[in-house]
Amino acid sequence: MDNCIFCKIAKREIPANKIYEDEDILAFHDIHPAAPVHFLLIPKLHVDSLADIDGSHHDLLGKMLVLTPKLAKEQGCSEGFRTIINTGRVGGQEVFHLHFHIIGGHQRLPGMIHQG
Ligand code: 5GP
Ligand code: ZN
Repeated sequence: MDNCIFCKIAKREIPANKIYEDEDILAFHDIHPAAPVHFLLIPKLHVDSLADIDGSHHDLLGKMLVLTPKLAKEQGCSEGFRTIINTGRVGGQEVFHLHFHIIGGHQRLPGMIHQG
C-alpha cells in the first residue's frame, strides 16, 4: 500500500523506534504513548484492519499473539498489560494497517469503556 504509514515503517522508508523484527512482524514504540509502555505490533503484510482478516492470516495472527506477552515482559510489563486492536470507524482506528497496541507500566490502567 503506497500511502500507508506503517508499510513505510516496515520498509524502513520512515523511521520508528523498533523493539522487535522478524520476516513477518515488526514492533515499535507508539509515537504518542498512552502509558509508560506503549508499543505497536504490526504484520509486515498490509491488512487494513481486523475486519479484513481471513483464514489465510491464521498463522500470522497466531504468531503475533504468541509474541505479545513475550515483548510486553521484555518492555517491563511484569504484572500485566492491555492489548487493544481498534477496528474501523466505530473502533476509533486511525491508521488503517492492522496493529495491536500493547500498553502497560506499573500503575493499574484505567477501567474498561462503559456505556454512559
Ligand atoms: P489507532 O487509533 O489506529 O488504533 O492507533 C494508531 C496509533 O499509531 C496511534 O496510537 C498513534 O500514536 C500511532 N502512530 C501514528 N503514526 C505513527 C508514526 O508515524 N510512528 C509511530 N511510532 N506511531 C504512530
Ligand atoms: Zn500498510
